[in-house]
Amino acid sequence: MPPEMDALKQQLEYRKRLTDKINEIHSADNLGTILLTIKDSIAALFDAERITIYLADGKRNMLVSKVMSGSEVKQIAVPISDSSLSGYCALTGTAINIKDAYDPHELKMTGSNLKFDVSWDKKTGFRTRQVLCVPMHFQKTLIGVVQIINHETGTPFSDTDITYAMELATSLSIAIHNIYRLSVTSKVVRQQSRYNYLLDKNIIDDKVLEKATLHADTARIGMDTVLMREFGVSREDLARNLSLYFGTEFVGYEPAAPPLEDELLRRVKPERLVKEWWVPFKIENGILHIIMDDPTDLARHDMIKFIYPEYKRISCIGAFREDIRSYIDLFYHHGAGGATSGSINDLISKLDDSDEPEVEIESRKVSEQDSVIVQLVNKIIMDAVQNKVSDIHIEPYPGKEDVIVRMRVDGRCKVYQRIPYKYKAAIPSRIKIMCGLDISERRKPQDGKIDFKKFGPLDVELRVATVPTAGQLEDVVMRVLASGESALPFDKLGLTRRNSRELLACINQPYGLVLVVGPTGSGKTTTLHSAISVINTPETKIWTAEDPVEITQRGLRQVQVHPRIGFTFAAALRSFLRADPDVIMVGEMRDRETAEIGVESSLTGHLVFSTLHTNSAPETITRLLDMELDPFNFSDAILCILAQRLARRLCACKVEYRPTGKEIEDLIQEYGTDAFRRTGIEPTDIRLYRAVGCPVCGDSGYKGRLGLHELLLGTDPMKVLIKRKSEIEAIRRQAMADGMTTLKQDGILKCFQGLTDLKEVRKVCIK
Ligand SMILES: [Zn+2]
Repeated sequence: MPPEMDALKQQLEYRKRLTDKINEIHSADNLGTILLTIKDSIAALFDAERITIYLADGKRNMLVSKVMSGSEVKQIAVPISDSSLSGYCALTGTAINIKDAYDPHELKMTGSNLKFDVSWDKKTGFRTRQVLCVPMHFQKTLIGVVQIINHETGTPFSDTDITYAMELATSLSIAIHNIYRLSVTSKVVRQQSRYNYLLDKNIIDDKVLEKATLHADTARIGMDTVLMREFGVSREDLARNLSLYFGTEFVGYEPAAPPLEDELLRRVKPERLVKEWWVPFKIENGILHIIMDDPTDLARHDMIKFIYPEYKRISCIGAFREDIRSYIDLFYHHGAGGATSGSINDLISKLDDSDEPEVEIESRKVSEQDSVIVQLVNKIIMDAVQNKVSDIHIEPYPGKEDVIVRMRVDGRCKVYQRIPYKYKAAIPSRIKIMCGLDISERRKPQDGKIDFKKFGPLDVELRVATVPTAGQLEDVVMRVLASGESALPFDKLGLTRRNSRELLACINQPYGLVLVVGPTGSGKTTTLHSAISVINTPETKIWTAEDPVEITQRGLRQVQVHPRIGFTFAAALRSFLRADPDVIMVGEMRDRETAEIGVESSLTGHLVFSTLHTNSAPETITRLLDMELDPFNFSDAILCILAQRLARRLCACKVEYRPTGKEIEDLIQEYGTDAFRRTGIEPTDIRLYRAVGCPVCGDSGYKGRLGLHELLLGTDPMKVLIKRKSEIEAIRRQAMADGMTTLKQDGILKCFQGLTDLKEVRKVCIK
């Protein structure tokens, strides 16, 4: 092909790309899109490193461009005057083309007062060379200036470049003019706000925005996190919002993401990335993609170019800071599948067990590089989840005693692992880092939450509590939350047929009060959610206030209460009543105020669910009356009270046996002789089951747990007793006359079925 043909072909190709770009500009519906998204591809068109689009502010005689720096929008304002490149271009209305911005002679030749402001370059390490400025006009009004910087070939911008830049500037002027006109006519007077999407979709309102701005944690963890954590904004909504705001893609954490080549990662230390909130992410078509908390921050963009000079094009993608941190952890610590491979003992053998004293200086206590600690904590959590552990206890001891890690399974604590004493500070610190707690604070207890999917391959949440102990040490207790877990199906609750039927009848009432009671860890929340799942339909508006939200259900509006900041159960209840609910669930009636509002709401047409920390169903009534709850209101409201316990379930390795005469006698007496007679069970037919032990149950003989229940109904005679503030014994007798089997009786019946054994029943039902 002759060279001139080749050149022509290139020009045609170039022209086509320009036309595409111009079409793209005209289809943009907001300024943000033009200034942020299209901008970069325009730079590509000119083989330029950067482009800045200035808009003219006629009133102030300034050119203004918005640049993100850190978490704030910074405005670059340049006076329209003959002293700066863009200002000169705007003032004279002509294109200027500079070969080297640092050459004072060349600048003087263009305009006698022209200077180049090097402060930005100095701050970022960027080196400006070629500069091409073209003015944007629409019908003789100055719209702004397009400034194109650094030709990647290192040669000056050509006359063709100028022609095309002018064409582009014309299209941009028209598009920007149209957008301005549109926004005025549609009275979009609200300023371009970071959270416009959330505001427009009514996900938050101005009041929430104001509150979040003033929130105590905003300075420390940032407004985005505060909006999600304290004001119920979902990650998805916020990500969508920020993606629109930044005009870039926005990614979440994906533990399966393949890390970059080591060489690229080695150039920056993870400590620095954590401070600056970015991480190299992937290379696609020769473009290095960086994820950054603020993808429009030009200063960081330039700094990164400095680190990776071989990449002419670097593209920034937005991500939440916590996700960036997770990627840094993933890329720098996990290596090739490090988080999941190896046993806990392999990891512990990697720990340094030499006998030198631990350096207890804060800054050195946990270096984020200490990947074995990172993997060890991950492994502890993953093992816990796999073994269906409810709580993990990290217990350091003074002196040179090992750190003990215990785990609670089916209600029992067992020693899981011992870890060399040297790590007694490092492990709690790592856990605190994972939930964003202050690692330097070791004298006060702290609470936090770990969203483990950001650190490892499991989607599980852990609630963390630190407890300062003697010798400046800290115990850590992590509760594995059944987060994201759906409600247990109602028929899996293990209710007897009578209890199941009666409870279903109650929860299908239009209003009234349903209480589930028992000590901590008796499965109250599981039962409540399971019951609510039965009536969770699109026609029913259900609000829940919980502490913490452990089980999630689609369709429910679930709210986390924060008693410490005054958002108590009572406060949540009051706010629900303004939100037109059909069904309300209040995590716990801890105090008279909550109980009163709960009762009143149930009398004004709402079905109210709650829990109480009482031992039995009859005791719940006397407890509430002792709180001076109005007995008339309460008796009108009450539908039923379900008391509950969890007993360990026998493993399939159990064996049946025929109890002795004495055993049967004791059992019948424990059940209640008269009550037992009414069951119609023939004493000689009774068979019981014994725990044995096998590999499946870890030789314990038990696997999983089982609910034991007593269900008291709000029958008319019961209501009369409540109004009279009757004694607990009278209430119990009435409840049994209404068909209630006590917790103990329910347990004994479940022993006959081989579900559990008497030892378990006696342990969880004291009386
Ligand atoms: Zn077994």
